[in-house]
Order: sequence, then C-alpha cells, then structure tokens
Amino acid sequence: MRILVTGGAGYVGSVTVERLLAAGHAVWVLDDVSTGHAAAVPAGATFSQATFADEDLVTRLLVDNAIEAILHCGARSLVGESIREPSIYYRANVVGGVALLEAARRAGVERLVFSSTAAVYGVPASTPITESMPLDPINPYGETKRTFETALRWYGTAYGLRGIALRYFNVAGASQRYGEDHDPETHLIPTILNAVARDRPMALFGDDYPTPDGTPIRDYIHVEDLADAHLLALEATGQPLAAGASPSLMLNLGSGTGFSVREVLQASEAVVGSPIPHSIGARRAGDPPILVASAERAQEALGWTPRRSGLAEMIGSAWTWRQAHPAGYPEDR
Ligand code: UDP
Repeated sequence: MRILVTGGAGYVGSVTVERLLAAGHAVWVLDDVSTGHAAAVPAGATFSQATFADEDLVTRLLVDNAIEAILHCGARSLVGESIREPSIYYRANVVGGVALLEAARRAGVERLVFSSTAAVYGVPASTPITESMPLDPINPYGETKRTFETALRWYGTAYGLRGIALRYFNVAGASQRYGEDHDPETHLIPTILNAVARDRPMALFGDDYPTPDGTPIRDYIHVEDLADAHLLALEATGQPLAAGASPSLMLNLGSGTGFSVREVLQASEAVVGSPIPHSIGARRAGDPPILVASAERAQEALGWTPRRSGLAEMIGSAWTWRQAHPAGYPEDR
C-alpha cells in the first residue's frame, strides 16, 4: 500500500511509520515539525516538511505519488494548551483537518485512519468506556478531535470515504529506535523517568481521588501495540464493506486494564532500580478519576490484541530509550 502519514515525525507517528515500513508498505511522511522531530522520521519514508493544512500541496502530494490511504496522526495534542489557546486547536485540528479531507477528496483517496483520543468522552459516567457512550469532551483538544471524527463520518456518508477513528487511551513505551520526546513533557511515565534521568522533581497530581489508593487510574497502551492497530485499521479500510455497514468506524485503543498513578510510580521504581523522588501536589484541572477502555470493538473489528502493554514492558522500553537518548532527539541538543 502507498500511505501518507501526517505527523510521522511525532511519537506515535514515528513508531507507526516504522511498523508500516516493516510490513512492506511505501510511506510518505508530512510533518511541519512544530512539535515533532525530523530525526524521528524513519529512514525508509519519504519526508516532506510541510503542513497537512495546505490543501493544494497535499492534493499534489497525493496525486503525484498515487497515495492509496492516509494515516492522519498530525495534530496539536496538549489539553492544558488547548484550554489557553483554543484558536491553535481549531486551526490545526479542525480547519487543517478539513483541508486534508478536501485534498483527499480532490485526489480521489478514499481511505483514512485518524488518531483520535479518549478525551472525546470527557468524564464518563461509568467504566469501562465503550464506543457507544456519549461524547462530551471537556476541553478544546477533545472537542476538536470529536469535530474531526464527525466530519469523517459525514464525508463517509456523502462521499464514500472509508474512515476509522482510533481513540487512544494513554500511550506509553518506545520501540528500539523511536520514543517519546516532548517539550514541555506533561505525560506521567516520561515525567517520572525525567525525575530520575534529569533530576527533575515530579509531583503526583492529587491523592484524594475516589480510587483504591487515591490516585487516578488510566489505561496504558504500548506504542508498538498501537502501531499494530494502525496497520490493521489501514488494511481494514480496503476490505469490501458489508451491506448496510457504515463506511466509518470509531474504535477504542486501550488494554482494558487500569493502573493508578501510584502503581505506575512503583513499577517505575522497580524498572530504574531506585526510589523516585516525588511530592504530592494539587489535582490537575480536568483529570477524571478513572479512564479505562473497553477494547472489545477493536478486537472484533480488527482482530487486534495488545501484546506488550504490561507496565514493566512499557516503562522498561521507555527507560531504555531515555537512557539511549538522554537529551532526546538530536536536533534538540
Ligand atoms: N500525572 C501526575 N503527575 C504528572 C503527570 C501526570 O500525577 O507529572 C497523572 C495525571 O494526573 C493523570 C495520570 O498521571 O491522572 C496520567 O496523566 P497523563 O498526562 O500521562 O495522561 P492523561 O491521562 O492526562 O491523558
């Protein structure tokens, strides 16, 4: 398959491109490296440093390279930033996203897999979360992802676009070559590892939640398991559609198992072999107590099962990558 990956210089994008290349696909990466890293684009992919919001440029790229399917990972993805600067999120995730859909339409590309998020659910009424539960995002990040999902669905109904939105829960871990390098870093596992590797004190954001140990529970998924799901989803968009079936599909990607912040901290201490200095801070605005996926629909639709999503393996691979890249990707040095 000839695949365009937007955001292929990002964390999930780079590991997924690596997986697609290993499966024998031809990959073009489009990324403006506003938050990604040129050094994270796997060598076998053809890299264009540009934005997916440039409809004319993307249309040419799709036509000139006879692209068959798009994997749309490119986005702005920080909850806190989205609350302060919704404008950036609407421009990139909605306006830019629709420009990409239009480019696909003009070029006749009818298959698209989209990086969505559990943030589309907001604070769910019950757990585990199934895809049929109401979508009620509580920040512009989740809202803009929901808006793109909805566009995908209507483009499917009207124009026959085969779309799959993958709602990621908490992505963690690294492949041998590619890992997580954000600035600023806000995610729990890299923050814990930075507390050790870069001697940066970290805080648990609250220990008075209604959970067994008082810290929030999340569903962590290994980035390589996620990459497998993208490959399967891209393949699924090429399968004949059953009579009456919707051309678009929304799937949770999680392990179905939750771990508390304290459990992640303890597992990290076991991986690094030393206590991790931490304090108990205030709750972070907008953090729900428990987010755990029901991953049954992805299992049924794609035959996908996470295989590497135990805490020790996720944290261990992230730690190995962090030690091999103490300053992150090279251009940041
Ligand atoms: N968290 C924390 N300290 C940190 C970063 C995160 O206690 O420095 C907690 C956060 O409150 C949440 C969990 O870890 O309950 C996962 O947060 P993360 O930002 O990794 O992902 P999110 O669930 O917000 O998408």
